[in-house]
Amino acid sequence: MECIFCKIIEKEIPSVIVYEDSEVIAFNDIIPQAPVHIIIIPKKHIEKISDITSEDIDIIGKLIFTAKNIAKEKGISESGYRLVFNCNKDAGQAVFHIHLHLLGGRKLNWPPG
Ligand code: AMP
Ligand code: ZN
Repeated sequence: MECIFCKIIEKEIPSVIVYEDSEVIAFNDIIPQAPVHIIIIPKKHIEKISDITSEDIDIIGKLIFTAKNIAKEKGISESGYRLVFNCNKDAGQAVFHIHLHLLGGRKLNWPPG
């Protein structure tokens, strides 16, 4: 499996894991764009949001629920945060294993550019 995030799941590549259960794992982004920048992924390999099916509705909800819990733990619930899925070329998706970015700890610009 050539997927870098699958390798993180398998612990073949080191990462700073902030949450893990049987379905999802969350770890610090290696090039953080904000004081808090955490990547939340399903353990199921799905390449991109365009590929999800009705079977994946629960796991996508779980990613958001996990992000919300981590935001609270990291103390950014009140100050605020942003959740982002990049999908395909125009959004700059670089890793083709679905991942939710949790960004916070500073004022984030909108529109994102
Ligand atoms: P995206 O552009 O949405 O595909 O984002 C991929 C994200 O994964 C980027 O923010 C990268 O910094 C991050 N990333 C890539 N490789 C690793 C890694 N080995 N550990 C942690 N984060 C990574
Ligand atoms: Zn993968």
